[in-house]
Amino acid sequence: MTGRLSGHRVLVTGAGKGIGRETVRRLVADGARVTALSRQPDDLASLAEETGCDIIAVDLARLDDAVAAVTAALPFDALVNNAGITSLEPVLTASMANFNAVMAINAAAPLRLAQVVAGDLVRRGKGGVIVNVSSTAASVGLPDHAAYCASKAALDAITRVLAVELGPHGIRSVSVNPTVTLTPMGQLAWSDPAKSGPMLGRIPLGRFCDPGDVAGVISFLLSDDAAMLNGVSINVDGGLLVN
Ligand code: NAP
Repeated sequence: MTGRLSGHRVLVTGAGKGIGRETVRRLVADGARVTALSRQPDDLASLAEETGCDIIAVDLARLDDAVAAVTAALPFDALVNNAGITSLEPVLTASMANFNAVMAINAAAPLRLAQVVAGDLVRRGKGGVIVNVSSTAASVGLPDHAAYCASKAALDAITRVLAVELGPHGIRSVSVNPTVTLTPMGQLAWSDPAKSGPMLGRIPLGRFCDPGDVAGVISFLLSDDAAMLNGVSINVDGGLLVN
């Protein structure tokens, strides 16, 4: 396959559904050889059949197992840390167990996988790219989202530290920060105009993200067209956060 990512080996986490699944489709179309990591074997089997990607079925909550599986699949030129979860609870009663579980998947696992993939790149003397899928929630306070907002702000901070430490090795690190994205679940959650209307009213472009909007930005960030982007968080939000 030819394309702007031709010859690139990319690992995408959380690839079974939503943004991750669409990202695998886009990266394969752009020529990359993709390994899709997710939890549900059925999701991965159908994605492999559709795109020809390689697959790793593992739960990032079992981080040692995930590290072993990713280590066995090395080398990669790039890592897309896309897997993410949330836990919606009022701040006064939020459970610490749920807070820690969200931080483990959304912040600690991306850092650990970056150690594995980028550590291998450094050892081999190769450059590469790490894209962390964050959120506009990193920059604002959303009711009931203490764990999620904290985890995405932490992920942006990790991106900046990776950029500073790994830049001298030719490894770029960037975050992509979508607003509400109409994955199948998002379409259900935001189908009621009474709920979606006020939020849409704050987005100058007047619509939510499609998974393809995010996948396209990820493909660009992985490519040499983004060769001087390092340490930044790119809001994919139709202008929401500048409004
Ligand atoms: P999604 O539709 O729920 O898909 C997430 C995928 O990640 C699923 O395949 C899920 O597997 C997998 N996953 C979750 N936890 C995992 C774990 N512990 N180990 C391995 N795989 C795991 O989510 P999405 O909406 O596409 O979100 C993708 C990323 O974008 C997340 O980081 C999210 O925070 C971010 N984001 C989403 C939106 C939005 O509105 N959708 C907005 C901004 C940012 P299962 O099917 O087993 O759960």
